[in-house]
Parts: sequence; structure tokens; C-alpha cells
Amino acid sequence: MKLHFVDLLQCNLCHRQGLEIIQDMVSDGNILQGELRCAGCGRTINVRDGIPEFLHDLPEDNLSEIKSSEGVATYCYPRDPDTYNDSWLLSLPRVANEKADNIEGWKRKISTFDQVLRDCQPGGGKTLLDIGASTTWSTRFLARKGYDCIALDIVKGKYRGLLSSKVFFEHDNTYYECILAPMENIPLRNNSIDCVFSINSLHHSNDLGKVFFELQRILKPGCCAYILDDTVGFLRRKKKQQAAERSRRENQHNDHVYSLREYKRAIAKADLSLHIEMPQRYLDRIGPVRYAPKSCLYSLYILLSITLGMPFYFRVTKD
Ligand SMILES: [Zn+2]
Repeated sequence: MKLHFVDLLQCNLCHRQGLEIIQDMVSDGNILQGELRCAGCGRTINVRDGIPEFLHDLPEDNLSEIKSSEGVATYCYPRDPDTYNDSWLLSLPRVANEKADNIEGWKRKISTFDQVLRDCQPGGGKTLLDIGASTTWSTRFLARKGYDCIALDIVKGKYRGLLSSKVFFEHDNTYYECILAPMENIPLRNNSIDCVFSINSLHHSNDLGKVFFELQRILKPGCCAYILDDTVGFLRRKKKQQAAERSRRENQHNDHVYSLREYKRAIAKADLSLHIEMPQRYLDRIGPVRYAPKSCLYSLYILLSITLGMPFYFRVTKD
């Protein structure tokens, strides 16, 4: 963690800005191990392996998810633990192992991720927060666009969580910050972030309202978030809900399903504006229909999203 990054942080318990460095082991302007203290509530925040740890008073489902993530193979991850290595990590998001869970769903996400990379402007030193960054493979590509990136997740272990970033740093000779914190309670200052990105993570939250409130708080006015995930339609809701419940019960993964309406409500309540972009995969799949007037395509997409559920690409703006 760079010394100056402390200026961007705030306590996520009492929300006071400004944390003091009370003990540190600094090397080349980086805090590797140490402690930060909040002058407001007196709480101490550990920094280990260069990552500040803002996990406290977490709900039981988050704790279970952290515990279950240590070495468990899941969505898009190969089941054989021997395949977890640096070359696998460096190959993400293109997963070579066709036997990985839900590989088709993952491929759908990748084409939309490429679309977001094309759409977002070169970073030029702007600050970008990647929410639910997991191994930080997405943060890596966003850092290459010139953003000063911050990866946020609640899981730290190598090949599942934030410590994987060290592999990318070494391979790419790059750097970005990592923070261990929940997406519903982000330890960053108000109006401090130029861009937010999140892929396949928001359905791990059990409170969408809190997540979008946090986005509203940390984004600078006029800035936006790029959010990729899935909606659930009413025709498949029961089945998907059962699958999410099973995932929570058997794998302790905090999976949820949310409809387009639930996303829209949470975004509007946080006083943010929603722009639905047509995901590339959707345009690819509808063939010649894609040349229909834009309003027809949009109506078809909304209809499919409400009835069956669809992968989505939202641009959420703070006015
Ligand atoms: Zn505090």
C-alpha cells in the first residue's frame, strides 16, 4: 500500500476521514505491514501484505463466504485444485478448462467485459474502484487502460482473492491498491472516485440498496459505474432462487438473485441514473434482428430481462 493512499481512506465504522499510521514497516514508500488508527473511534486497522483489512462486524453469510473461499473451486474455476497456479491466473478471464463450472455463462460475461474495456475512456491517472475484484484479473486490465486502480473484496487468499494481485504486479510490472472490505461499507472518502467497475459481484450482496448508496457516496459528481451481472426473470425466478439457496447452503456462497426491477429501484433510491447498454453477447445472438430500430431492440431486451432474466451491462451515473 502506497503511503499516500492512506489519504483516500476513511474508517468504515465511524466514517471519519483521516487515518493515522501508528506502526509501519515501509519499503520504497510502501506500507507492507503495519497498523492504521481511526482518530474518531480509536479502532485499529491491520495492514498485512500491503493490504488494509477493513473487515469487522461482518454478517454471518459474509463470514461463511470468506471461509468457503479458501481453496474451494467454484463458478468458472476449475474443480481440480492442482490447476490453480500462476499461469492459470495469468490466463484469466479466458478459462482454457472447458470442464470448469458454468463455462458458457462465463464466456458470455467475457464478451461484455471486452465491450466495457472498449467503451471506457483511457484512465489518464483517474481513480477506479473494482468492486468484488476477486483475483483482480479485471483490475489488471483496467490498470492497463491507465487508471489508478483499487481492488476491493472480502477474500484475500492467493488464487481466490486479493493476494493474487502480486502475481500480476510481478508479471506486468504494474501496481494497484487492494482493500479488504465489504461492498456495502466501503472505506473510501466521499466524492473520491472517478470510475467504478464491477463484474459478476453484486449478486453476492444481500443488500443492493446499501451497495448503490455507497457508489453514490464515493463517486465524484458526473462520474459513473460500469456494472456487469445478471437479472432474474419472473419465469425462472423460483428455479434460480432455489439454486442460490442451494449454493448458500452447500457451498456457503452468498448468492442471490435480483430482478431488473430490484436493480432499478435500488439505483433510483440512491439518486443515481441508470443507462442500460446492450450487452455484446445479446447483439451477437439475435442475428439480423440487431439491425432493427434501437427502440425495438431495447424493448425486446427489457422484455427478455423481465421474463427470462438476462446478463446486463449497466452504466450508473452520479449527476
Ligand atoms: Zn472510526
